[in-house]
Amino acid sequence: MKIAAVHTHLLDHELDTAFESASMHFSRRQHCLVEIVCDDGTIGWGECLGPAPLNAAVVRAYGAALIGRDPLETEKLWLELYNRFRDQGQRGLTVTALSGIDIALWDIKGKHFGVPISTLLGGRFRNSVRAYATGSFRREGVDRVEDISREVAGYRAEGFHAVKIKIGFDVEEDLRVIEAVREAIGPDMRLMIDGNHGYDLLEALEVGRRAAHLGVDWFEEPVLPEHLSAYRAVRAGQPLPVAGGETWHGRYAMQEPLETRAVDILQPDICGVGGFTEMRRVADMAALHGVRLVPHVWGTAVCIAASLQCMAALLPNPPRRDPIEPILEFDRTDNPFRQAVVCTPIEHQRGVVQIPDGPGLGIEINRDALAQYALRES
Ligand SMILES: [Mg+2]
Repeated sequence: MKIAAVHTHLLDHELDTAFESASMHFSRRQHCLVEIVCDDGTIGWGECLGPAPLNAAVVRAYGAALIGRDPLETEKLWLELYNRFRDQGQRGLTVTALSGIDIALWDIKGKHFGVPISTLLGGRFRNSVRAYATGSFRREGVDRVEDISREVAGYRAEGFHAVKIKIGFDVEEDLRVIEAVREAIGPDMRLMIDGNHGYDLLEALEVGRRAAHLGVDWFEEPVLPEHLSAYRAVRAGQPLPVAGGETWHGRYAMQEPLETRAVDILQPDICGVGGFTEMRRVADMAALHGVRLVPHVWGTAVCIAASLQCMAALLPNPPRRDPIEPILEFDRTDNPFRQAVVCTPIEHQRGVVQIPDGPGLGIEINRDALAQYALRES
């Protein structure tokens, strides 16, 4: 079996209502899927985290080197591609693009051997995971406290056990939002807060100190991802567990946060950290340092399926932990192609998601949806 072609699929949808985190404004949803076709007809799918057209350009730059190669040699191919842009790359788009390719290669490998990727990774510790609802972005023209309170009450009614909300805008308003959310979801539902690196150190410390009594599981990206000393100061100076890692791509980017304990919870994204090949190494590194790993997930059902295969095989650490941990990030924001790209949507039932058990990623791509949501280049 040899690789015959590498394609990218750019998906695009203009939102009716824009929304924003502290670091990004969303008026469109755009994602980049990777399709790798083999000469025997086997096809693998992957996805890249981040700006879709830029990821697609890097995937195309890697693509020529893959033609005629054995797709089962995932480790060899990963290193070769990484080396191509090592001098200028190391992090960012060169690794997020490589992630999409690596996921597609593992999908091919699973299909070739007729087993889910979780089997190739060593077997499953869990067949389902609890999901937490991610949403509660800021929207223009509405009362933010009322808007988000209504939204999270909906997640509770759907059966979610946990929710993560977006802060990082304004300390006083954010604290009012957190308080209102706790009121809306009641005392038992888990609550996480995500600053999207919108605060400076003093603001982050204040939010953490004043939100702690509201029962917050973790404080995500409180400060800029480059400022690891500020991360450590947030950990030391307020009571909430600190989470981060979605912008740290590749194992080298994870090394200092782990070795210096900048986070309590590491959040690599399989579509950004380097795919299955690199995620395995990062998971081992986190376990070695006793840091909990909870994957970041922000993409289509391809990304969700890859995250689920990885989560199925994550070593319980410690071994007595409830085997349905870790928790899955489940994006609830507007994105009509998120589930449309697969023939069988990956949905939750009362906040629990079953992990697909078909070969590879365990999904079948709906090509009609790829055509319907294809980016029209202007
Ligand atoms: Mg986040």
